[in-house]
Amino acid sequence: MITSDTPRHQGLRKRLAEGLKIKGIRDERILEAIATVPRHVFIDSSFINFAYKDQAFPIGAGQTISQPYTVAFQTQLLDVQPLMKVLEVGTGSGYQAAILCELKAKVYTIERQRELYIKANQLLPELGYNPAFFLGDGYKGLPTYGPFDRIIITAGATAIPEELLDQLVVGGKMVVPVGPGDQQTMLLIQKTGQDEYSTEKHGTFVFVPMLKGIVN
Ligand code: SAH
Repeated sequence: MITSDTPRHQGLRKRLAEGLKIKGIRDERILEAIATVPRHVFIDSSFINFAYKDQAFPIGAGQTISQPYTVAFQTQLLDVQPLMKVLEVGTGSGYQAAILCELKAKVYTIERQRELYIKANQLLPELGYNPAFFLGDGYKGLPTYGPFDRIIITAGATAIPEELLDQLVVGGKMVVPVGPGDQQTMLLIQKTGQDEYSTEKHGTFVFVPMLKGIVN
């Protein structure tokens, strides 16, 4: 059974969304999604009181659920419209995937750690979200399911994952944190032609690393 959602949780979520607006998240649909998705059910129960603080938290297997601001910021850069095909790399808790589902995207999400893949695959349908889940290496993407209108990477890559660029439609966008060390620069890459890209930098963030292969 999933943790219940109470008026108190709903109130805390609304305040979280208001706080993100003050921090510069302007897309009302994203603020609405943050105010809707019950973040506390994605978090280990001992942290339930922290679910609606603007902080990252452990989700098991040495991974974290991203900070709400980071989720909102990446989602805003991604510029998701209803019915778009969106690939997420790094399912983790499934929270970001739920936000993308709230935006009415067709969501495909890949996780490399079986434990997290199983957990999210069980939880999201219970909440009414039905992205397509994959256990696999996000560096390879999902060539047979692409091309995608949007690709969002929620782990820190050491370099731009080239194979994923091939899986974007022309006119598509990829949001990816890239950096050699503990910090990454948020990149918005737009595919402007078959082999043409433009890249914008959008500040510094801290993500868990994007790693190769799967963990069973
Ligand atoms: N989007 C998640 C954030 C989880 S943290 C959420 O909303 O909770 C990043 C996740 O990326 C971790 O679960 C990690 O295991 C996963 N990851 C790292 N490298 C990966 C890869 N190459 N392919 C798929 N998932 C990967």
